[in-house]
Amino acid sequence: MSIKNNRLTNEQYDENFSDIHPPFENKEAALVEANRCLFCYDAPCTKSCPTSINVPKFIKQITTENIKGSALTIFNANIFGGGCSRVCPVEKLCEGSCVYNLLHEAPIPIAKLQRYSTEKAIQDKWKLFERKPSNGKRVAVVGAGPAGLSCAHVLSREGIDVTVFEKESKGGGLMTYGIAAYKVTPAFCQDEVDFITSLGGIEIKYDHELGKQFSLQDLQRDFDAVYLGIGVGLANKLSIPGEELQGVEDAIRFIYDIRTRGYGNVPVGDKVIVIGMGMTAIDAATQAKRLGASEVTMVYRRSEAEKNCTQVELDIAKLDGCKMVWLAAPKEVLGEEGKAKALVCDIMKLGAPDYSGKPSPIPTGETITIEADMIIKATGQRPFEDLVGQNQIEHNRGKIIVRDKVSTTIKGVFAGGDCVNGGKEVVDAVQAGKEGAEAIFSYLGLQ
Ligand code: SF4
Repeated sequence: MSIKNNRLTNEQYDENFSDIHPPFENKEAALVEANRCLFCYDAPCTKSCPTSINVPKFIKQITTENIKGSALTIFNANIFGGGCSRVCPVEKLCEGSCVYNLLHEAPIPIAKLQRYSTEKAIQDKWKLFERKPSNGKRVAVVGAGPAGLSCAHVLSREGIDVTVFEKESKGGGLMTYGIAAYKVTPAFCQDEVDFITSLGGIEIKYDHELGKQFSLQDLQRDFDAVYLGIGVGLANKLSIPGEELQGVEDAIRFIYDIRTRGYGNVPVGDKVIVIGMGMTAIDAATQAKRLGASEVTMVYRRSEAEKNCTQVELDIAKLDGCKMVWLAAPKEVLGEEGKAKALVCDIMKLGAPDYSGKPSPIPTGETITIEADMIIKATGQRPFEDLVGQNQIEHNRGKIIVRDKVSTTIKGVFAGGDCVNGGKEVVDAVQAGKEGAEAIFSYLGLQ
């Protein structure tokens, strides 16, 4: 067993990381699906979208071949509508609510139709929005992820000059750095950021990190308002013996490397364990397999019924050949010569519901030991507790405390997305950015 890179040929990498949800083959295929839509009054698909995209309207526009109108309907509600069509867990959002499910028929492929319109808009660089003339107000946005750029776009449309400070060298946040490459490519993410900023009035300063190149006080002094969309950081610690051994890695770091270094340059183990059963855990497990790991085992301390990922995601991992070990909680990483060689897990049983509302996992006293040379932690992410504390932002264990959804306890400073909720879907962050912009309009007396 060893951790190494270049396990596969370039052709194998390309095949393994190709688009998992390919677009419609042609216009006719899109029209067939669009024409199945019942254009429901009070559409449940729209209600279940955090950004309230008017789904029947954009589908109707596709049926009349008004693709520009369709794209505008989507982007008006969700400027990341292109990326969201690839990464949203639609089975628990719009498609999961489609009335066809009640008829035991396949739901309308809303995401694929959304991709159909938005992809054309982004590829062909359609100018769908006009920015109002500058009104002299200046707003700083920290973080060029979905929350930050969604906020920036709404602000700029109304004539506010926005400066976005981003610690990475590219925009898009988790969309660019934290999602499996077979769902959305780095190239698409760049096109999406370019599409958003093509509105004008949005300057992104890359490689600018809060607490390093500038402080919150600098922004308060130089801008009329500040929006924080700083996301969350690395994976939670396991706090078990052996966690420091070589080969124990963070899922977000692993996924980040895959997206930034190229598939062949990312070392992966022969036998990999992924701890956790959320979307990030699935993305780490499937990509470890697709990088050439011979065995990938996912361990989760509760049963399948309590998993955090969707069934669709779980099925992808199973189809990729990942094994699942349910009711197993990590207890100790065993090592040899400083390197991880196995994970010992407590075997659990389920008890009464805990604070999360899920049955609490209770050790049975028995253990299992699973061999591994690489152990990837994906048990949730840590908010930037030190960073928000240093900037005197009120927080709860790193999660920024807000009133009215977006106002921090500091006047003129707003926040939203993962840094407030601890980590939800991209589409939730987009909505948080819109709400941040509305609150800033009101704060600046523009409403
Ligand atoms: Fe169309 Fe389904 Fe939405 Fe009804 S619920 S409007 S059928 S996509």
